[in-house]
Amino acid sequence: MARKQIAAGNWKMNTTISEGVELAQAIASAQRSDQTLTILGVPFTHIYPLQKKIKASSKILLAAQNCHHLKSGAYTGEISPTMLAAMKVPYVILGHSERREYNHEDNALLSLKLRAALDSGLKVIFCCGEALDIRKSGEHISYVKSQLAASIFHLSAQEMKNIVIAYEPIWAIGTGETASPAQAQEMHEAIRKMLLKQFGKRVAENTSILYGGSVKASNAKEIFGQPDVDGGLVGGASLNAAEFVQIINAF
Ligand code: PEP
Repeated sequence: MARKQIAAGNWKMNTTISEGVELAQAIASAQRSDQTLTILGVPFTHIYPLQKKIKASSKILLAAQNCHHLKSGAYTGEISPTMLAAMKVPYVILGHSERREYNHEDNALLSLKLRAALDSGLKVIFCCGEALDIRKSGEHISYVKSQLAASIFHLSAQEMKNIVIAYEPIWAIGTGETASPAQAQEMHEAIRKMLLKQFGKRVAENTSILYGGSVKASNAKEIFGQPDVDGGLVGGASLNAAEFVQIINAF
């Protein structure tokens, strides 16, 4: 199996630069397997200082948490994918449910952002996931399919090499409630089947699909142990170095 095991942290709007450097250094210096890719999704302000302070040998990669859908222009306060690529940030997180909700990012806009990010040479951690009412109605798989269809199904197999999918049920994000390993596996398997149908075997087998939603040191092993779960996108627990290192080592 060629797909990567990934432990990705999403720091959201947390930590000052000095706190972030301390956190990243603690994560970087901990013992862990070489097999797992560690990605830290950090605030824009932290990217340059972290690049300076974290040794390349620590194999920690950085992700931005968002980018604009255009390369440049009169968009006060925005950061473009070109700017991130010029800083050699390898990843950007797109489609997080918090941005879908608070910044009104819909599938159409996310599709533009995805195109711009890929065209700039960034890899994308693309988030999808249903709200509680959709889960209760039993429509969760078709809902996630509609999110992926709108944003990634039109990509080429070549472009899919630069996509990591993060399934994050909204009802489990920051709530302390986690999808059961069986619920995670059901959705991940369904997503992999969608990839198989859309892109063929190679893409389906090689695309990492992460689970996100209250992953903690105490539940990571069981969730990551599911056959179609290739790691996690971790919010709250990624802000505690000891806990996040345990999650990194849970594969
Ligand atoms: C997230 O923000 O992507 C997330 C999964 O958060 P948490 O782990 O805190 O639920």
